[in-house]
Amino acid sequence: MTSMHFDSRAVHLPVPPVEGVRPMAPPLYQTSGFAFDDPEVLSDGLSRPDGAFVYGRMSNPTVRTLEEAVAGLEGGVGAVAAASGMGAISAVLLGVLKAGDHLVAQPALYGGTAGLIADLVERFQISVTFVAQDDPEAARAAIRPETRLMYLETIANPMTQVADIAGMCAVAREAGVPSAVDNTFASPVLYRPLEHGADIVLHSTTKYLGGHSDVLGGVAVFGDDALYRRVWSQATELGATPDPFGAWLTLRGMRTLPLRMTRHCENARVLATRLAGHPAVAAVHWPGLATHPQHKLAASMMPDFGGMLAFDLAGGREAGERFMSAVRLALLAPSLGGLETLVMHPATTSHRKLPPEDLAAAGIGQGTVRVSTGIEHAEDVWADFAQALDKAAG
Ligand SMILES: *Cc1c(COP(=O)(O)O)cnc(C)c1O
Repeated sequence: MTSMHFDSRAVHLPVPPVEGVRPMAPPLYQTSGFAFDDPEVLSDGLSRPDGAFVYGRMSNPTVRTLEEAVAGLEGGVGAVAAASGMGAISAVLLGVLKAGDHLVAQPALYGGTAGLIADLVERFQISVTFVAQDDPEAARAAIRPETRLMYLETIANPMTQVADIAGMCAVAREAGVPSAVDNTFASPVLYRPLEHGADIVLHSTTKYLGGHSDVLGGVAVFGDDALYRRVWSQATELGATPDPFGAWLTLRGMRTLPLRMTRHCENARVLATRLAGHPAVAAVHWPGLATHPQHKLAASMMPDFGGMLAFDLAGGREAGERFMSAVRLALLAPSLGGLETLVMHPATTSHRKLPPEDLAAAGIGQGTVRVSTGIEHAEDVWADFAQALDKAAG
């Protein structure tokens, strides 16, 4: 299996045989647990991830198929699936860190992760130093004897900053510090952090892996068995476990991941290029454009640049609001990575609580629009954007 191309491995999931036959789709074990004749088998299954299937909060065959499928695509030794991306991220941060520990993280983080870290700092005596995601020397200077984790995102939200995963993780590894990378925006199609020195990879499978805007989920993948067992144990304590049906839907979506990702990237390229040449647009943020601050880094890391982009309307906040009410095909919606093109205006939605100076510090303008490109025909999306840009220009 591992000798096949990535695209083929995504289609041929590791579905275990059932009663001697191999189903083409993974069976759905929609059960909270299993009954046993031998009590010893039962207690063994409760205490380790690879014991017998006993109780659904610890393990379930459908969930395990998902974990093995993602571990296979990311090149990990094991994976822990969760009910949401934040479930997986919580299990990793709480499983690895304890009071008195120090964390090194990049400043541009997914909002939920930033909130969780702020909580750990305020209520659990954990300290954090933020360093730019592409500055290994700053990371080296920030690491202390009590540093226990480095936390990065391959491509950040919403301004698409790209992290120097290999450089940053090398610094962490030299200091004996494990590193965790949220790879949601890139997906394993574009980048596999474990192959470049990371120890843990995180996904909100709600996004590209599931891919159909119909299921929440998350997963943490491990390059190391000890970390895997520690986080599995934490996830079972938190009850972050996914429902088998959610895992099954995610598996169904994942089989077309490489195909979808190709189209997401193609559509992003069309939109980014045309937006960059439009008079109503002041700037476009997509790692595939030569103007992007980490374009060279991204080109050295990935075969393409992802389906997420942002652009700044020259007309500021009012133009942003006019654009949002003018789009017809594109949907105004949270989340990302689904089949439909989605747009968001961070200044009036996801980041509305930030004072203007904090918004500016995050690189987000009053007229910034975030786009999650779908898999529609690019010309239809562009026609919609073109008419909305005309209205945004007023
Ligand atoms: C959505 C998202 C998360 C959180 O995932 P949920 O499934 O919503 O809990 C984490 N990281 C990134 C980069 C995301 O986009």
